[in-house]
Amino acid sequence: MTKTRAYVAIGANLGDARAAVLRAMADLDAVPETRVVARSSLYRSAPVDAAGPDFINAVVELETALGPEALLHALQRLEAGAGRERPYRNAPRTLDLDLLIHGDSVRSTEVLTVPHPRIAQRAFVLLPLAEIAPDRVTLGQLRQVSGQQIERL
Ligand code: AMP
Repeated sequence: MTKTRAYVAIGANLGDARAAVLRAMADLDAVPETRVVARSSLYRSAPVDAAGPDFINAVVELETALGPEALLHALQRLEAGAGRERPYRNAPRTLDLDLLIHGDSVRSTEVLTVPHPRIAQRAFVLLPLAEIAPDRVTLGQLRQVSGQQIERL
């Protein structure tokens, strides 16, 4: 069984967002053929292009035998399980899971773009990613997001 390193961004901004993020980390570890091998700290960030209260964010590193699409499905099941509704684009969400990187996979289809196209624009992805995978983030990328409001908890 080939194991791949994958990185998933976790975000929540409704209800007990911190609990939702911690719960998602535990749930990811329970996904079949998958385990969480590293967890970033939790971060608090102001919403970007989204409504509602501040987000709690984190990134986890997974070791998984699932391919990118199967892993995305698992993420979507966890989002649904967390009661996420999509009344409109970028509505506040109880749980948002983004597949950032899946090994060396490069895909751009209707359902999945990986590596995630907006990694480099978001401090709430880059900072936690840099914490657990410093070789995946450049200093230049960190400088570009240095104006964004984010706090490590
Ligand atoms: P969002 O509302 O930001 O969570 O976007 C969810 C939609 O983005 C879903 O329809 C996914 O199929 C699609 N998508 C494309 N690439 C990715 C990715 N790398 N991670 C998560 N969702 C993705």
